[in-house]
Amino acid sequence: MTDQIVGKHKFTCIHCSDTPPSIKVNKAWLHQVHIVGNGWSKYGYSDVIHRDGIVENITPYNEDGFISYSEVTWGIKGLNYVSKHICLEGGRYQQKNNSGRYLSPTHGIIPFTQDQLLALWNYLAKELERNPDIIFAGHYQFNKWKTCPNMNVPFLLHNIFGISMKNIYHV
Ligand SMILES: [Zn+2]
Repeated sequence: MTDQIVGKHKFTCIHCSDTPPSIKVNKAWLHQVHIVGNGWSKYGYSDVIHRDGIVENITPYNEDGFISYSEVTWGIKGLNYVSKHICLEGGRYQQKNNSGRYLSPTHGIIPFTQDQLLALWNYLAKELERNPDIIFAGHYQFNKWKTCPNMNVPFLLHNIFGISMKNIYHV
């Protein structure tokens, strides 16, 4: 089977692994969760940005502006043929609440390291350079039941990174 193009790369969606610092998220971990656990045919992400700012490729892709079938990731149902999905490792604290669930940040707090945020900024800047029409979004913006990536994405991208609102999904 040839590696057919399935869509134009329109969105880059930001996710988090929703894990505390004690959990090391890498391709092997995602294989257990997405492929073995969920039974998915593909990973949920193209890349993971680790706490130290290192970017780990999970699903290979080229940067031709299109999504081909081998580049598809199962990040957000209905958007995957026009999207690239990237994942910030973390998003939860080590502390647990009374029901044993790892705490997620309260409103306005960014639960990622400075190295990660700089790596994300750099990553998005390169995407913008390649495609001035790209739209960045947070997973929760397409699913009201989700909080992923556990921070206010338009606020970070616009107010902190200085990315134009024309490149940020907002409704
Ligand atoms: Zn997500």
